[in-house]
Amino acid sequence: MIQPPAILKCGDESIMKNLSESAFSSPVTREMEEEMNTRLRENPDFARRIGNFGFLELEESWGDEATIINTARISTTNQRINSMQEFGDRERKLLYYLLSQNHGTPFETVYFRWRIVAPIFVIRQWIRHRISSFNEFSQRYREPIPAYYIPDAQACTVGNMRILSEEQLARYCQLMEELHAFYQEGYREICQRVDEAEARGSIPKVEGGRNPYRARGRELLRNAMPVSCYTDLYWTINFRSLMNFFDLRRKSNAQYEIRQFADVAYSMFKSRFPILGETMDQVLKEKGGIL
Ligand SMILES: Cc1cc2nc3c(=O)[nH]c(=O)nc-3n(C[C@H](O)[C@H](O)[C@H](O)COP(=O)(O)OP(=O)(O)OC[C@H]3O[C@@H](n4cnc5c(N)ncnc54)[C@H](O)[C@@H]3O)c2cc1C
Repeated sequence: MIQPPAILKCGDESIMKNLSESAFSSPVTREMEEEMNTRLRENPDFARRIGNFGFLELEESWGDEATIINTARISTTNQRINSMQEFGDRERKLLYYLLSQNHGTPFETVYFRWRIVAPIFVIRQWIRHRISSFNEFSQRYREPIPAYYIPDAQACTVGNMRILSEEQLARYCQLMEELHAFYQEGYREICQRVDEAEARGSIPKVEGGRNPYRARGRELLRNAMPVSCYTDLYWTINFRSLMNFFDLRRKSNAQYEIRQFADVAYSMFKSRFPILGETMDQVLKEKGGIL
């Protein structure tokens, strides 16, 4: 019997009990766990675990509220402030004015880079935010991350009704394990055939770089992998577009899983940009927004 992975904090440990082998116990998932734990230690206020294997970190941001003010004032007084120490009432009013009147371009001068580990189905929704930039883990160049999304009790419930039963969840996990095992066994077989063919001399030996035979194996086998697989990516976005993301993905009609990430991202944004966060909340409240 396997040990449930340490990161399974969702109260559904029982579902793992009957699995004879777990995708989560692979060296790759352990390595990722270690990396995420290091980031949590090194950047504790801006890194967070989400769900059973997810992770979000605000790695870097460029600019601050003063940047927005200075950018806006180029069209009027051009009176710059040199730091946030000089940010006073006049600046607060200007920030409020810009936000409430949708003067968007000054907000495009502040940027954020996030590291995201999330299920593919979450990222499918995320990448619809076209005014931003993504760089993602590739299942063409690497084997899939051997971890899959396990919905927690809250994710399986609407109001007081359990939608996905414990039994269904256990079967789901079993199926995910089988798919991961199918990939791993299939890839091992392909690599073995390629090695044997190379040894026989029936295909040319590939020294270093990308092996086209193994690569084709990964390209074909990944078609069997589900959207519950975790992926790993960088997301870079300016603040104007980030506001739009928060607006759309923190609303109650957004899917639970992307909402979890959006809410965490929002709390990180607010602790780095408190004045901007407060002003944004004020404007949204006045406009009857949901935030
Ligand atoms: C609850 C919910 C349900 C959804 N359901 C579906 C669905 O069923 N099917 C589906 O396909 N999508 C769906 N979406 C995705 C949605 O339609 C948007 O693609 C996504 O939310 C990104 O928003 P956006 O276009 O504003 O963001 P971005 O792509 O980042 O664009 C930001 C802004 O730039 C402007 N812009 C960007 N590209 C263009 C363009 N080509 N032309 C003109 N202006 C542009 C717009 O003003 C836009 O608001 C859903 C989103 C939500 C929140």
